[in-house]
Amino acid sequence: MTTTKYIFVTGGVTSSLGKGIIAASLAKLLQAQGYRTTIQKLDPYINVDPGTLNPYEHGECYVTDDGAETDLDLGHYERFLNVPTSQSNNVTTGRIYQSVIEKERRGEFLGKTVQVIPHITDEIKHRVQILGKSGDYDIVITEIGGTVGDIESLPYVEAVRQLKWELGESNAIVIHLTLIPYLSAAGELKTKPTQHSVKTLMESGVMADVLVCRTEHELPEDLRDKLAKFCNVRPEAVIQSIDASTIYDVPNLMLDQGLDTVVLKKLGLDSSEPDLTQWNQFLERHKNPIGEVTIGLIGKYVELQDSYKSILEAFIHAGAENEVKVHIESIHSEHLTSKNAAKKLKHLHGVLVAPGFGERGIEGKIEAVKYVREHNIPFLGICLGMQMAVIEYSRNVLGLKEANSTEMDETTAHPVIDLMASQKDIVDKGGTMRLGAWDCDIANDSIASEVYKSHTIKERHRHRYEFNNAYKSQIEEAGMKATGLNPETGLVEIIEIPSHNWFVGVQYHPEYKSTVANPHPLFVAFVKAALNFKTKNNSVSMAQN
Ligand code: GLN
Repeated sequence: MTTTKYIFVTGGVTSSLGKGIIAASLAKLLQAQGYRTTIQKLDPYINVDPGTLNPYEHGECYVTDDGAETDLDLGHYERFLNVPTSQSNNVTTGRIYQSVIEKERRGEFLGKTVQVIPHITDEIKHRVQILGKSGDYDIVITEIGGTVGDIESLPYVEAVRQLKWELGESNAIVIHLTLIPYLSAAGELKTKPTQHSVKTLMESGVMADVLVCRTEHELPEDLRDKLAKFCNVRPEAVIQSIDASTIYDVPNLMLDQGLDTVVLKKLGLDSSEPDLTQWNQFLERHKNPIGEVTIGLIGKYVELQDSYKSILEAFIHAGAENEVKVHIESIHSEHLTSKNAAKKLKHLHGVLVAPGFGERGIEGKIEAVKYVREHNIPFLGICLGMQMAVIEYSRNVLGLKEANSTEMDETTAHPVIDLMASQKDIVDKGGTMRLGAWDCDIANDSIASEVYKSHTIKERHRHRYEFNNAYKSQIEEAGMKATGLNPETGLVEIIEIPSHNWFVGVQYHPEYKSTVANPHPLFVAFVKAALNFKTKNNSVSMAQN
């Protein structure tokens, strides 16, 4: 295939309709027919990237191999496609303006007035086509964040209009995702909001080629005809997207509705039966677990599902791999104390202490580590969670009562976790952490070497603080081992307690790399350890009865 084809996904009526999942599901169907497909997200906010956004604002910040801090939808893209994304897959208005302004400062506009049209729209078009021009993809799906009609979305919709025109009808199409609300008082599904949102799109000169309609009820034939007639799309291009029990059902739901066929026909490409064998095997295991385990997730954003998105999805992948249902019990670290730790944790088969920044809730995380360490409950600490494990061990096993991270207490007598040397002169907050994939060498005879079955691994990072190597020999002598090290700097990437049942802390984020096709081995092993722990405990309590 010589020309890259472009599919734009816009949203109407309301936000949170799941554009990312629709884009990822369509991409999956196209990939499963042999098309090299990637997905890109354009976000209309002014932050240069979501790295400086609080999870309350924007959910999890997802990190790519090349160190981009991105929207969590990129996590879905990778989990569905099993193909890494990069800096080019997420672009914000802030980033667009930043590059245009930098060009202006370099004098690249030769004295011209710099304007939204054409300069901002040109930059958007350029960013959309970077992936297409790389030669790596047959199809690029670009999801446009926000809702059509928003002031901030206008330059993006205008860029789409121009691209459709420049690239030609069969090279660029628009899928518009809308909501068909159900009014229970009237007992009716309503099409009017969709008609209005398609009209809003048309006011900007963009015709939708396909309508994907989110709905809680089946769309009857006459309603589809009505939508087709009033929204200028062919009846077969009205696609129902009914609520699903899991996001992983959506590719099959879209396949049943023929979304892939309609799209490929519009793009002038051949369609065939997608090969979803592996995907469906995963679904089969996910939906028919043989056993179950309960894992506590200790964090400070637990009331928000999106804050720990990749961790929750990694547990779904690892659960399916182990053929168990993983129940996640979210436990707020701010409410965890030495007094209530047993009550909150004793029934769990595993505990994960989550990543995070700042002081809020850290003493609760430390209490959680203490309890699971003393009670042999399988433990996985990620990033801040690993740092808390080091602090807990230093305080309660080495007796360094004041041990802390300098992130929480700059003047602590025992900075067992300290700012990385490379971070000491950094003032800017955005994009300046240790980000992306770094090497880690694994020690023999460790859980890590058993899990990864490899001597050197590459995992993704997002942190400023590290294990303070000045305390390494002291900590190792007391029984906590550094089993993973960065080969260039000696930075501790993995810690374990060999005398414990299963105790692993990692400075990196394994959750970002877990996909349906490749469940992360560390999560798989952790769930397995939880299952073993449960089985062992059950047999002990049965013997006692
Ligand atoms: N706040 C810690 C650091 O910057 C941990 C970061 C994280 O958990 N992602 O090192």
